[in-house]
Amino acid sequence: MAHNVHVIDHPLVQHKLTLLRKKETSTTSFRRLLNEIGSLMAYEVTRDVSMHEVMIETPLETMYSKLIDGKKLVFVPILRAGTGLLDGFLSVVPGARVGHVGLYRDPKSLVAVEYYFKMPGGMKERDAIVLDPMLATGNSAVAAVERLKETRPRSIRFVCLVSCPEGIATFQAAHPDVPVYTAAIDRQLNDHSYIVPGLGDAGDRIFGTK
Ligand code: URA
Repeated sequence: MAHNVHVIDHPLVQHKLTLLRKKETSTTSFRRLLNEIGSLMAYEVTRDVSMHEVMIETPLETMYSKLIDGKKLVFVPILRAGTGLLDGFLSVVPGARVGHVGLYRDPKSLVAVEYYFKMPGGMKERDAIVLDPMLATGNSAVAAVERLKETRPRSIRFVCLVSCPEGIATFQAAHPDVPVYTAAIDRQLNDHSYIVPGLGDAGDRIFGTK
């Protein structure tokens, strides 16, 4: 497996991904499953976030115990499909901040063009987790992380549900320092830049726009 790529192969994630992929899965179920997978992936992706100790009182004694600093985490969905993973992440880290990146592909130049970018202040002390269900060509992920790096966050991780070898290679060539977390590495991209076998257009399936 490529260096710095973490495949989240937990049985619960894989089970829900199978249901999500099925073409007959309704928009309602797709959204619910994506939320559930988001919270399960968040559990793995945040495994090594920094913690600090606080003194607390249990009913019996005083003790030192650990907390994460949720407000130091920034979840960054790439619009629009990335928002489908956001609620699941926020359900396990409700204090996290949220930034948004909006990109579209210029039909002539095929270059990713930014139309929206909004991050919380104080990014230098924050750990950013970029969310996008599909790592397909990798072009929007590369552009989003490039732009995010200008804000100098303490760390960046990239999370997707389904990836493919082409997208991983493109992303890692541009950002070898950014770990990728994915639930699956599918076979390939097809001629229309869809991941196969994949799950179709994630945005359309989340929002019911097809
Ligand atoms: N975006 C999607 O939503 N699906 C793909 O297969 C590729 C890119």
